[in-house]
Amino acid sequence: MPFYASQQARLTAADFDPETIVGQAMIKAAPWDSIIDFATHPSFCGIDLYPRQRTLLRLAYLETEQMTDYDRDVIEEWRGGFSARDAIGVQPDIWDRVKYLQDNGYRRFPHIQAVMGRRAWKGLFGAVLGTEQIAYFFSLDNWQAHYGIIEDKDGYLSVVATTQAQAKRHQFRDIASMVEHCTYLQGHIASSKDYELAVRTPGDMRRLARLQSAGITPEHEIASLRAIALSTISDVVRGAAGFANFYDEAAHFIQTGSSKSGEEIYEAGQPALDQFGKDALTYLPSSPFSKIGFFFRLYEEGSVLMRSGERITRDDIDVEAGLEEQIADPEMLIIQLPSWGAYLDWERGSELVGTRFPRPIQWPPQGDRPENQRMARLRLKNPDKFRVEREGQFAPVIGAYLDADKVDDLFKPLTWRPPLVAQRYGKFALSYRAHCDPGRTGANFALCIGHTEIAPCDHCATPPKEQTSGPCLLCKIGTYWPHVIIDLLHVWKPQDFPIDPETGKATIDYVMVQNDLENVLSRFMSTSKMSFDQWNSAGMIAALRAKFSPGIRVGEVTFTEKENQIRWERLKSAINLGWVTSYEDHFYDDGTSLLRQELLFLSEKNTPTGPKVIKQDFGPVTTKDLADSFAVVTTDLLHQSLDRWTQDQLTAHAVGSTYIAGLKSGSELERAAQLGVYKGGHRAAGRRAQEQMDDYLLARRRGRQHERRYSPGVARPLGRPERRFWPS
Ligand SMILES: [Zn+2]
Repeated sequence: MPFYASQQARLTAADFDPETIVGQAMIKAAPWDSIIDFATHPSFCGIDLYPRQRTLLRLAYLETEQMTDYDRDVIEEWRGGFSARDAIGVQPDIWDRVKYLQDNGYRRFPHIQAVMGRRAWKGLFGAVLGTEQIAYFFSLDNWQAHYGIIEDKDGYLSVVATTQAQAKRHQFRDIASMVEHCTYLQGHIASSKDYELAVRTPGDMRRLARLQSAGITPEHEIASLRAIALSTISDVVRGAAGFANFYDEAAHFIQTGSSKSGEEIYEAGQPALDQFGKDALTYLPSSPFSKIGFFFRLYEEGSVLMRSGERITRDDIDVEAGLEEQIADPEMLIIQLPSWGAYLDWERGSELVGTRFPRPIQWPPQGDRPENQRMARLRLKNPDKFRVEREGQFAPVIGAYLDADKVDDLFKPLTWRPPLVAQRYGKFALSYRAHCDPGRTGANFALCIGHTEIAPCDHCATPPKEQTSGPCLLCKIGTYWPHVIIDLLHVWKPQDFPIDPETGKATIDYVMVQNDLENVLSRFMSTSKMSFDQWNSAGMIAALRAKFSPGIRVGEVTFTEKENQIRWERLKSAINLGWVTSYEDHFYDDGTSLLRQELLFLSEKNTPTGPKVIKQDFGPVTTKDLADSFAVVTTDLLHQSLDRWTQDQLTAHAVGSTYIAGLKSGSELERAAQLGVYKGGHRAAGRRAQEQMDDYLLARRRGRQHERRYSPGVARPLGRPERRFWPS
């Protein structure tokens, strides 16, 4: 529904009756009796609600008078369940909160946090909240006058998600569909696009009529209630009047290089709601994640009890210093439910709400039905994942394997070399190392290509005269070390391929990948070696060998668990020493770097056979194929230098004796680095390098163009990147 100025102009010409509209202006009360009336009655949304969904809505809208005995029983159950180890329900002091809000003239909880398992009704709950908010503002006739805001200002309901694509697909779409479905509002929708919806109020109609009688045909759409989908990267609409903020899957808001953290997004977005005071709406629906980030912080804040001012005590919440001084916020409603929580008692539908439901949308793992047993099997397969994604419980914080600052440094431009970008062609003078990680069925297929260059002296920062490592002849103290430069990162994702008609799933077409790899190798003819992880790659190796051997060695590499662990230790050392630099790829959400995210989300787990570096099973980043390829290339290229560096440190500074195991694993490197024997690798090597870095940072602050040149990976537009980026 695009906007046409002439169409808008005809609106008032056709059947415009100023009398009716003035008449409507007198009616200030919303025409629905209750939130259940609004959600279920055909004059409004006309949707079906399961018994517990009604309970939740009545609670959110403080409609205690409408509550049935059933509602009160369920709320009592929820109240009791919140302090249990597996928290389910609402804050135990919910009745105090309700009373406070009722006494102070609120019509709804202004701040609602839904911590729910997958498909637990949080999207539709949000759609009812959002649609009711738009309808309520519509019912005010001229909401600007009601709140004392200048008349031509638009009001916004913003749906923020990690990507605009996600915002559009999920919470925003739920709201837009509900508004389109709402009999009360549908005739007043001025435009409906996939990322924005506009509703024209009676006040807007009068404004339009006034403009037209003055002989003006407005060239912009006059419709002052708007819902928009935003990504965490886009700037919040500043200075706008926001009547509702939705933060979709807020527990998964993570900082991705150029984007802001969840905390920043929330802090920037909330002031827009100030003008609407008690009537503003904040909704944070999310399946939980680790106990980190602003979503968990708000959850903790919302758990501070009103009467005592103490936070609820539960042995799985770590009480942080300072939090006990938190003041209880009665405006906050927390509802925490497993995936099936909003559908319980579905079989009592006729008795409780006069509707017979054929089935619930989600089943609990308890019970004898095949659906129950399916859930029970899911739980058995991966209890930790099930706990978070289905049972709606926060996961304990798992220690990150790599230091976040060091990972950031990995992507910073070098002082002694032009900034890195993805290379389309290899240079014949350089020798490249490539590794492919063909993921298992349904996983990504990753490629990494890199080479080494000799960095300036690690003591006096003099650039090398030739491309060989060794002692610095100028200062006679430092050494020239090789530095890994990443030339190409690529990820093939199943979702970028067409759906296989036989399995009904999107799968990577290995023939296409093989063609792409042939294409890449023919552009990087001076590659010395391309290796593959053992999984599923025999055919591809044979084909590439036939074409490129013996010039390029193509082969499979097999790693034992122990070798894998040693590789991660070496990679960690290389990163901590600042011996490797990469450009930012664009394979994560909204074109940000997947390598960065995979590295940040690596964690270490203790197993019977020793520590193991693992990826996450749930949450925003659940792959590590690109990090694997990157680790193989980097550690293979630096293998000898890392050993030699360790040896140098050991002999020169007697940091350890002949600690062979530590030396092999690389942990000795870190120890040496920590002891200050070696500070930060090439990057911090002496004053000159520091000055160059300062110059760079200053230049970066001065010129935007400069900046753009230096951050190639970040400047990509929204949306899925093209599958192939090298034209054939
Ligand atoms: Zn030197």
